[in-house]
Amino acid sequence: MEELTKYFRKGKNIIKAVDHITYKISDGIAFGILGPSGHGKTTLLRLIAGLEIPTDGYVYFNDELMSEPGRIVIEPERRNIAMVFQNWALYPNMTVYDNIAFPLKMAKMSKHEIDKRVREIAEELELTRVLNHYPKELSGGQMQRTALARALVKNPKILLLDEPFSNLDAALRDSARALVRRIQRERKLTTIIVSHDPADIFSIADAAGVIINGKFAQIGSPTDIYNTPATTLIAALSGDINLLSAKVVEDTALIANLRIPLVKGLINDNEVIIGLRPDEMKILIEQQDIHGFVNVGKIRVKVSSYTLGVFRIVVSPISDESVNIIVVSDEPIEPGREAHLLIKPDKMKIFNKEERLICP
Ligand code: ATP
Repeated sequence: MEELTKYFRKGKNIIKAVDHITYKISDGIAFGILGPSGHGKTTLLRLIAGLEIPTDGYVYFNDELMSEPGRIVIEPERRNIAMVFQNWALYPNMTVYDNIAFPLKMAKMSKHEIDKRVREIAEELELTRVLNHYPKELSGGQMQRTALARALVKNPKILLLDEPFSNLDAALRDSARALVRRIQRERKLTTIIVSHDPADIFSIADAAGVIINGKFAQIGSPTDIYNTPATTLIAALSGDINLLSAKVVEDTALIANLRIPLVKGLINDNEVIIGLRPDEMKILIEQQDIHGFVNVGKIRVKVSSYTLGVFRIVVSPISDESVNIIVVSDEPIEPGREAHLLIKPDKMKIFNKEERLICP
């Protein structure tokens, strides 16, 4: 895509849904588009699919022009793409076989060819035994595999996924992510996945772009984005994080009574924002040295709650109970207890007052 742009008119206002994006997604990779609601993710995907006409800019597949300013050059049906949306909706009154065969029937393929293709993809996705079943007779996993089979049966060059897992429950979501990942890898299928959930993006994508206000605010590998988010907003979009205002005095960041040692001379700002992910800290009742961690001071436990196999513990610095810090722990800790907070200095992110990353 080159200078790709889509504006919508809303009354007197112009909404810049996608704003001059230039980027080439490499062939055969999975590319993720992460961003908050309403910042242009779906519009970008629809522009790529040919379902929106660009206000400005171009869409190319390899070197072939697909869309140009004000015009769709190649219609969506002729782009050799497949799209899967939120609900993985199947046609309820058709069998698995007919659901998968549907796109091929629409393409007026011969019965013989349709049968061959449906059976091949059913074999690949372990659906052979349920080809005569109706959707209501399927498990959640079988439904997903059927929806994916229907998307892939025409051998698309590009797979587009828009929030594909958001309506699935947690267990099914994990298996659906793993399935998409496996198929994408096996087929080296260029895949673009849009989601507001970083876990969707990070479990599938080789590279990702964070879209904010219709522009890519950061592009990189999932680990780049997670470990070195360019701004506090990207840090928060890419996973849980505590963002804590701190004063810097003599190479130490102070958050109430907590003292975080900084590398000498590294930070010149007097005020910074310290970013600490909940799973990169520890709470200890008894003081003790743990390799890779630094004890930054005493905290009091406020709340301890159990979710998804771990405890989320809210703590506050002893000297300022209005500052809340969330820490993930394997064990519960009683509210009211005093304890030590340990952080991993090499995982800490430091942002300036303007909320831009200054370290690492
Ligand atoms: P969500 O995650 O909520 O779907 P998104 O990041 O996918 O959000 P888009 O759906 O691309 O965001 O919308 C971007 C902006 O463009 C929003 O402000 C939206 O209201 C606006 N918009 C999208 N489609 C249209 C349209 N057809 N007409 C007018 N405005 C639109």
